[in-house]
Amino acid sequence: MHLPGFRRLSHWRHLRTVLQIPLLIVSIAMILEGLLGPSVAPTNLATTLSWVHFRGALVLVLLCAGNFFCLACPFMLVRNMARRFFRPRLNWPQKLRNKWLSVGLFTLILFCYEEFSLWSSPWWTAWLIVAYFLTVLVVDGVFKHASFCKFVCPIGQFNFVASTISPLEVKVRDLEVCDDCGTKDCIRGRRAPGPELVVIQRGCELALFQPLKVGNMDCTFCLDCVHACPHDNIGILSRLPASELMVDPRRSGIGRFSQRKDLAALAIVFSFGALLNAFGMVSPVYALESWLAGILHVNSKAPVLGVLFAMFLVLEPAVLLGLAAWLTQIWGGSRRALVPLAVRYTYGLVPLGFGMWLAHYSFHFLTGLYTVVPVTQSAFARLGWTAVGSPRWTWLGIPMRVVQPLEIGFLVLGLVGSLLVIHQLAESDCADRPLRAFAPWAAVSVVLWVAAMWMMFQPMDMRGTFLAG
Ligand code: SF4
Ligand code: SF4
Repeated sequence: MHLPGFRRLSHWRHLRTVLQIPLLIVSIAMILEGLLGPSVAPTNLATTLSWVHFRGALVLVLLCAGNFFCLACPFMLVRNMARRFFRPRLNWPQKLRNKWLSVGLFTLILFCYEEFSLWSSPWWTAWLIVAYFLTVLVVDGVFKHASFCKFVCPIGQFNFVASTISPLEVKVRDLEVCDDCGTKDCIRGRRAPGPELVVIQRGCELALFQPLKVGNMDCTFCLDCVHACPHDNIGILSRLPASELMVDPRRSGIGRFSQRKDLAALAIVFSFGALLNAFGMVSPVYALESWLAGILHVNSKAPVLGVLFAMFLVLEPAVLLGLAAWLTQIWGGSRRALVPLAVRYTYGLVPLGFGMWLAHYSFHFLTGLYTVVPVTQSAFARLGWTAVGSPRWTWLGIPMRVVQPLEIGFLVLGLVGSLLVIHQLAESDCADRPLRAFAPWAAVSVVLWVAAMWMMFQPMDMRGTFLAG
């Protein structure tokens, strides 16, 4: 906020729309390319941008800044345009006011990615984007506020969890100003003077009341609260990354992390799913899959994947986290019951999981960085626009020898982050014997980190580029 012009920029009412319009145009181009363009994935905009560039840029922006991809989300632009014509009337059902549905959808996308080899199918990728647009329109067409973002969107949930590690947060500058604030427009919305009290700037659609908001969970960086606050008391401010994982206050719109089993499940799918997703592209997975297919006597991929997902997203976390929680009770003397204890410490694995996503996605992004140039040239050439030059398919990206140390650095960063968070949790949970409470969870982190490091050195599929096997 101290950068010249940045504060004024964040107050500019049209900032979000200006960021969304280019992404909407790119999304439409990707859909058209995916449906009508070449079927070879590395030459198609839909697959190249989705699986090589978008994911890599997303995690790097989350690491260096915050949830700016949700700010620029093109789905919300279409939703806002649609809401000019039809107003949603219903509230999101009480029973679904949690993350269970989105945890299921997140898992489903990871599953479909492997089952349909999405990275190699422009057609499926295009339909996935279309399905996303349609789901947003249906959900937010029927239900009020930002129901899709808060309770449905799997990409949003990924961003919410990852942004707990980000160095920036939308938050209040001075809590004393909030104490004296009579309108609370940041949550209620700003209304025009007059008897009808028409809302001229909506407040937080994600139900985050700024003075009681803690951290980035559920925040889309939409900046509605910044625009609504009449006292200019909200900004995009810096903070210690991952600090929100170390504390457990009652958070506005969320409650306490330690009482949210659904959020812990999201953190588990985020962390263990990072390993599973990377495991899907290293060579040993093929041997494991054919071994499982032999045992199950099946020829299709889906049942084998089902077993793999059950093993890595259910069985493995249940064993590791259950064991760590039990040892924390015995050694550390924690008074919490087993499940609440596991829920509380699970958030400590988020930095490690994020390190894995970073290593994985930045690997594809950096090694395929320049591929966007010939793919775009080729798309223009199909339209008859040759002024941008003819594609040079030899353009790939940054060499592996440069990228691999970076990947290792991300994994080390993730491990260090997890150990710091877990240590802090152990200190507040078992003040008498913090090291004994810390040890089992540190051991789980190290086991997962060793598995991640092992994967980094396996032969990999260069999915989405011409180096693909
Ligand atoms: S953030 Fe702004 S609108 Fe919200 S309570 Fe504080 S001063 Fe009032
Ligand atoms: S309005 Fe809500 S979701 Fe948007 S930036 Fe503010 S706190 Fe975050």
